[in-house]
Amino acid sequence: MTFDKECLIETSDIISVHYECVQCHAAVVIPIEKLNGEKLASYSLSPCSHCQEPSTFQVGASETAALANFIDSLKQIAGAMKGRSRKLRFRIKCE
Ligand SMILES: [Zn+2]
Repeated sequence: MTFDKECLIETSDIISVHYECVQCHAAVVIPIEKLNGEKLASYSLSPCSHCQEPSTFQVGASETAALANFIDSLKQIAGAMKGRSRKLRFRIKCE
């Protein structure tokens, strides 16, 4: 007999966003309820506050808007799924 481990999360399971510098691995952790497009753009565009590694995002770039839209969608989906007769889950890699 074999068992496969399956890891599923709901949007309501997502409680924060970790913004990690790829150079020094310092991370900023932002609670999802406090994150908005303005804060996201600020963290995306600013150099790392620890090692000053410059951002590779550009002001007004579509990636920044896509991230903001993704965060907004996470919040909306989590709210829309409360009390529903179905659960929306995402399968993630688990070790
Ligand atoms: Zn850094």
